[in-house]
Amino acid sequence: MRKKLVVGNWKMHGSRASNALLLSGLKEAGPWTADVAVCVPFPYITETALALTGTQIAYGSQDCSAHEQGAYTGEVSSAMLADVGCRYAIVGHSERRAYHQESDQLVADKAKAALAHGITPIVCVGETLAEREAGQTEHVVKRQLAAVIHTLTHCIGEIVLAYEPVWAIGTGLTATPEQAQAVHAVLRQQLRAATQKADAMRILYGGSVKADNAAQLFAQADIDGGLIGGAALKAADFSAICRAA
Ligand code: PEP
Repeated sequence: MRKKLVVGNWKMHGSRASNALLLSGLKEAGPWTADVAVCVPFPYITETALALTGTQIAYGSQDCSAHEQGAYTGEVSSAMLADVGCRYAIVGHSERRAYHQESDQLVADKAKAALAHGITPIVCVGETLAEREAGQTEHVVKRQLAAVIHTLTHCIGEIVLAYEPVWAIGTGLTATPEQAQAVHAVLRQQLRAATQKADAMRILYGGSVKADNAAQLFAQADIDGGLIGGAALKAADFSAICRAA
């Protein structure tokens, strides 16, 4: 039995004041049966760490560099993230693939860098609306995952995978539980061919998950929790999703 995991992706939202309110709301709302984490903007990681001390809520970043260290202005290494206690790093979010031209290989290299420092990468895959309408969903997500499998080889079982259809992110359009489950099953099958740990790995769904659709999504056989954007910014909403998991 896989333990559910719910991760909040705060994206580029928040301030010291609003984060303090959100985190104290979450602390009051917990504990939950599921594992819970928040992935916060880089400048707020240390304060988040302090605020979450002694709670079940883990924290992480929304990206990491593929490089170990050096002259890479503006990048943040996995060693630094590990140094400030991050448990997770989201890599390959569709906003980074789209706005920063991140390739499948770069995403895989970032996942490798995270694992090298004991950080669990949450690797995002997902198709655009045009790709779905062209019947390419399976092809796209398998191609994205294949790069990670190829790069991580025997470590692939250590990642968390997140299926996030691009057309569902921040749009209010959610994949139906059946649509999401169909893709998760394809991804699980691909993982089974790569590692004996596939059935223990968590595959999260992300894309307009809300308190009122979370339970149905999380009830699907291969959906092991969620990656939550907009609804992670309000303690009551995020907490209700964590309760549904
Ligand atoms: C996300 O950014 O990973 C996400 C799933 O966003 P939202 O929940 O707002 O669709």
